[in-house]
This record gives sequence, C-alpha cells and structure tokens, in this order.
Amino acid sequence: PRPDLLSAAPERADALARVRTLFEETFGSAPDGVFSAPGRVNIIGEHVDYQDGLCLPMAISHRCFVAAARTSTGLLRMRSAQAEGVLEVPIAELDPARAGGWTAYVEGVVWALAARIAETEGTSGAGLDLVVDGYVPLGAGLSSSASLECAVAEAVTALLDLGTTPLERVRACITAETDYAGASTGGLDQSASVLCQAGHALLLDCRDFSTRPVPWDLAGQGLALLITDTRAEHSHVDGEYVARRRDSETAARLLGVPTLRDAEHAGPEQLADLLARIDDATIRRRARHVLTEIERVREFDRVLASGGVRENVARLGELLNASHDSLREDYEVTVPQLDVAVDAARAAGAHGARMTGGGFGGSTIALVEADAALDVAAAIEAAFVEQGLAAPVFFLALPSAGAGPEV
Ligand code: ADP
Ligand code: MG
Repeated sequence: PRPDLLSAAPERADALARVRTLFEETFGSAPDGVFSAPGRVNIIGEHVDYQDGLCLPMAISHRCFVAAARTSTGLLRMRSAQAEGVLEVPIAELDPARAGGWTAYVEGVVWALAARIAETEGTSGAGLDLVVDGYVPLGAGLSSSASLECAVAEAVTALLDLGTTPLERVRACITAETDYAGASTGGLDQSASVLCQAGHALLLDCRDFSTRPVPWDLAGQGLALLITDTRAEHSHVDGEYVARRRDSETAARLLGVPTLRDAEHAGPEQLADLLARIDDATIRRRARHVLTEIERVREFDRVLASGGVRENVARLGELLNASHDSLREDYEVTVPQLDVAVDAARAAGAHGARMTGGGFGGSTIALVEADAALDVAAAIEAAFVEQGLAAPVFFLALPSAGAGPEV
C-alpha cells in the first residue's frame, strides 16, 4: 500500500514555524505566542449524550495552531491559512447578529469572554491579531470547529491575562459555537479539546459534565486508532437526528423515567424486562441501543481500569464492534459507507471498528496494531472501490494533549 494513504499530522516544529511565518507575513512582526488545540474522536458512547449518558472521546493528533499578539488597536484581526483574506472587527462591536463565515468561531470566543475581558482590561482598548493554521480536516466530523475555538480561547486567556479555568474556557467555546456561530453542539467536542490528556481518553458524564481521564496508552502498546473519513453525506441528517432524539425521549416517557440514564437495570434479564414494557418495536430498539451503549461505556472504562489496553484488546474490540452493530441495527444511523468501512476493517484484522459521531456519514474508527494500520486502510480503500464508492480519507490518531500554549 502507498504510505501516503495515511494523512499524518505534521511535526510540531514544522507546524509552529509555518504559523509563525504566516503571522509575520501578515502583521509584520513576530507573534507574542502560539497556542494549539486538538480535534477529537469519540471512542465509544454514541447517541447517548441527550439521554444523560456517558461518552469517551479522545483528542487526536491533528491540531489547530493559533499565533497571536496583543495590540492596542481595539481590533480583532484574523487570518486563516485555510481561508482567504485578513478580516477585522472592533472588539467592542462584536455581535452574533452580524456573524458569518469562519471568523464567527474566533469572534464568538472573544465575545463569550467579553465580561472577563472587561473585568481585566476595563476599556483600555486592547486588541488581538490572530493567525490560524488548522490540520483537523474541516467538516469531517473530527471537530475542527472546537479545535479552532479552543486554541483561540487559550490565546485570549494568555495574552489578555484573563486567568480563566479550563472549565470556563470549555463553556466560553460552547457559547461561541451555539450562541455566536449559531451551530448546535452538545459540548463533547469542546470538553475533549480542552480537557483531554496525552495517552488518555476522557470519560465524560453528560448528566453533569463531570470528566475523568482514563489511561488509553495506544502508542506505548504498539496500537493506534485508524480514522476513516468516509466522505459520505446524507441529505436528511438533521431530520433523522431530531427523529432519533424524539424516539429516545418517547422511550424514557414510556419507562417513566426523566432520561434513559435513569432506567436502572442490573443485568441482561432486568434489561429484557424493562424493554418488554415498550410495545412499539422501533421505540424498543432505540431504547435498547441507548441502554446497552451506556453499559458498554461503563464496561470499556472498567476494562481499562483493570489492566492496560494491550491485555484487554480483544474485549475492547468486541465492545467497539457491539457499539457499531447496535447503531446499525437498533438505532439505524449508519449508511453503506460506514458499514463498508467497518466490515472491511474487521476483515483486515482490526481488533474492533465502529462508526463515530452522529452517523448518516462522517467517520469510522478502527483499533489496530500500529504496524498494520496501512494494510487496514488499504483494505478499506479496496472495499470502497469494489462497491463503487468515492475514495475515503485516512488519518492515524494517537490520544493527544488538550489545548494549551506551545513552548
Ligand atoms: P467539524 O467541526 O466537524 O470539522 P463544523 O462544520 O462544525 O465541522 O466546523 C467547520 C467550520 O469551522 C469550517 O467551515 C470553518 O468555518 C471553521 N474552521 C475550522 N477550522 C478552521 C480553520 N483552520 N480555518 C478557518 N476556519 C476553520
Ligand atoms: Mg464542529
């Protein structure tokens, strides 16, 4: 297989040099600092966030870099290596009603931190010059938007001395995306991008947004996560998403609980009893997905706590497989591209594979031996060719550090 099949993240030093150079070309002097934040992938725990469930994202190797300098212009001046032009807006005039385009994700973070900035800076008229260079593919479901927001939040906090906590930055980035850029986000992306640690996944409890790092040392164990961006786009994603949310709310109502997280069940028999109380076969399957998926996350976490990834790789792979099968059969959110990628990965020797993200397109992940990643990618590519599907794009991901300053 061609080695260039896997789109590797750039060397840190190269990425830093590139964003610094672009900053100097744009603004005529060196930046005060460079900051970065990663994209993310959800390892397991899909379509459970809106039922107060658990999920387990990890930061990926691909990051967004932001070179920044503090100015006294009162302006926010922005440029991206992935977009045209240099755009500017007075910080005092930031307004969600006038937001549009990629800069909304940058402006939104500054806007969300406006109260903090006013506290610290008063009306001193501080400004910021920012150059963005992102390596998280845009719109592939790997959360380039959160990587951009979270890198900007690091820059703003450091250069304006805001002293925000990581959780405050998570909240500011969620506000930026929902209230300023006008995109809906549950907060998993921003939590992962800010709070993840290298060599760890992040157990996120969607009930109260509490988090706990979970050791997930793929690199040290000769393992890796192969991400396949299937490039599949579905035309009714939003409608289907709303329909699934509604189905799971119906299931909770029929079981007499506020959310499916509250539908306690001690084992398979109690689960069967619980599900037998739902007459509608479709709603019953939706409930079964959510309930079993939350259990799979719990088991994934328990298994990782009981020994490393390597000792338990077979069981972890089974849980990934079971998650996908449940999303395909019970939740019905897969499309042929997702199923083909997953089936081909399993057949090529992956320990486990599943779709990740909301479904109806987007990406899959496969837990693979690091030295077999290229072969698995080649097998998936061949399966796509055989099925007459457009070529997918592959990324190799290791659990990476969350947002922070680059030294
Ligand atoms: P995802 O977050 O899954 O990649 P979204 O639609 O949520 O997809 O976010 C993609 C948008 O984020 C892009 O259309 C663009 O507006 C913005 N964006 C992300 N990264 C960059 C970047 N490096 N430069 C400019 N805009 C970016
Ligand atoms: Mg996004």
